[in-house]
Amino acid sequence: MTDRISVTRRNTAADLISIVLPAYNEEQNVRVVCAAIQSALCGLGALELIFVDDGSSDNTADTVRSLRDEGAPVRLIRFGRNFGHQAALFAGMEKAQGEAVITMDCDLQHPPELLPRMVKAWRDGAKVVQMVRIDTVDSGFFKNISSKLFYRFVNLLSETPVLSGAADYQLLDREVVTAVLQFKDRHPFLRGIVGWLGFQSTCMEYIAAARHAGTSAYSLRKMVRLSIQAITGLSSKPLRFSFYLGVLTAVVALSYAAFALVGLLAGKTVPGWTSVIAIVAFLGAVQLVSIGIVGEYIARIYEQTRAMPRFVVVEADENLPERKGAQAQ
Ligand code: UDP
Ligand code: MG
Repeated sequence: MTDRISVTRRNTAADLISIVLPAYNEEQNVRVVCAAIQSALCGLGALELIFVDDGSSDNTADTVRSLRDEGAPVRLIRFGRNFGHQAALFAGMEKAQGEAVITMDCDLQHPPELLPRMVKAWRDGAKVVQMVRIDTVDSGFFKNISSKLFYRFVNLLSETPVLSGAADYQLLDREVVTAVLQFKDRHPFLRGIVGWLGFQSTCMEYIAAARHAGTSAYSLRKMVRLSIQAITGLSSKPLRFSFYLGVLTAVVALSYAAFALVGLLAGKTVPGWTSVIAIVAFLGAVQLVSIGIVGEYIARIYEQTRAMPRFVVVEADENLPERKGAQAQ
């Protein structure tokens, strides 16, 4: 098992910036997005744009291919079916070659004009530049409410807070990408993982533009699924919840059993009532606490199978002597 993440730099092009763009039915946006990014980052270093076609049913992949054939610095990764936004982000990050990797949506909602400021913050030393959405132009009532609820709910249950409005518009240094890619979750939640790692990060606020073309693919079903992914990916609290609930119920149930016993001694009960109440209360309490204990073990198994590192070292003196006999990682 990985005990810690040691951040090793792999061979990346020193000045290359990779942009990862998950794209699901974005054929009308690919060209515009590509042009906008290229003009925003013109002169700031070499670029590669990785479009991850997440099983689109339109001509997204063809549009990317034709851009590539025209000589644009574009690469295509195509899924055979729709695996989802988070999976597409990871696929793009795995193939990215740059020293900095920027993830953004392929619909111009994440303003490309801010890219130079993000790159500057990174060059000034930030390892993570997290963009925080403070408003969305033309967003519907339902989208606003559901987005607020999403962050409330996730933060209520998660052990690593997620900034409200911190969508997947961010710049990650190569060190952070290397660390993120060590997480092998089947259903990853990128924002949570990046927050958990604890690298030095800077936030910048932005107002999300209206979608350039097409419609949002984030249906209510997908949003609920992402919330569950976010909560279960960030914390085992829901599993442990039944233990606390069990203990609380046990206290209430056993008090009620005591009350029934007092009733019996005072001769105020119908025959048989006290024993029925006592048995039901006892069994209920035992069952809930047992489920809680099982939950605790399942939580541990879950955390172990995720093979999460115990900690992440972001700085260590070179040649720190290892104690003799210390286990090699
Ligand atoms: N996306 C994706 N797979 C999906 C849904 C969305 O790759 O199953 C992409 C989509 O093409 C866009 C980004 O994820 O680049 C954000 O999706 P969308 O704009 O539909 O969501 P919203 O901005 O409305 O939350
Ligand atoms: Mg969008």
